[in-house]
Amino acid sequence: MSEAPQSPTKDVLELTDVHVYYGAIHALKGVSLNVREKEIVTLIGANGAGKSTTLRAINGLNRARQGAIRFQGNDITTATPHTIVKNGIAQSPEGRRLFPRMSVTENLEMGAFQRTDRENFQSDMDRVFELFPRLHERRAQKAGTLSGGEQQMCAIGRALMARPKLLLLDEPSMGLAPIFVEKIFEIVLEINNQGTPVLLVEQNALMALDTAHRGYVMETGRITLEGPAAELKTNEAVQKAYLGLD
Ligand code: ATP
Repeated sequence: MSEAPQSPTKDVLELTDVHVYYGAIHALKGVSLNVREKEIVTLIGANGAGKSTTLRAINGLNRARQGAIRFQGNDITTATPHTIVKNGIAQSPEGRRLFPRMSVTENLEMGAFQRTDRENFQSDMDRVFELFPRLHERRAQKAGTLSGGEQQMCAIGRALMARPKLLLLDEPSMGLAPIFVEKIFEIVLEINNQGTPVLLVEQNALMALDTAHRGYVMETGRITLEGPAAELKTNEAVQKAYLGLD
């Protein structure tokens, strides 16, 4: 994906100087980033850089001790995870896994439980099955018996059932066979084309930068580089550290 959207000026999400601690460990040391309407933004970096912690600060699982997080113009820095989901931020795969003894369809239904509008429920379910025909084939199967890739799809599908206004993806390609990795990134693009902004955390920097409009590079709790994804991809330091190129 090389073409950036035309004029994505409005911020959906904005982090300003966010600091997060785990006890004495200063995990985020002043993270500032934003996601605008219609964008896919990726956050790349080595293990332990703070990518997951950034998502956990956004979804309310880790409180920012300093700094601010705004979503659609509202301050959500101290909002509860419940409120944040209700406001329209969905994450997949979630820390919580799928319900293994429930069917694919039942897991997808669970994604919509916060919603009050029931009228679009069936069309949303159809949309998820259109995006993931594989899930449709396996709709009656217990989620626990799906392959890793199918579970990933089911988790993303479940997040979509919440009709999110922002989708957070934490390593959607992790542990997947290459054919599923390609498929997952295609679907991320498709979801975005349908209008949902995405913040994508990935170890697979190449795929992430090929998919995203913009990117941020994180090192030890700080953003060290940012820019259009195409530019980051040709950045020498990024190529050396994250793309395996010398
Ligand atoms: P990974 O890709 O390995 O998940 P990451 O970039 O997502 O890496 P985080 O998981 O956000 O990194 O971790 C950031 C820092 O916070 C690391 O130093 C990590 O050891 C530390 N950390 C993460 N979770 C905890 C926790 N529950 N308790 C203590 N320290 C933690």
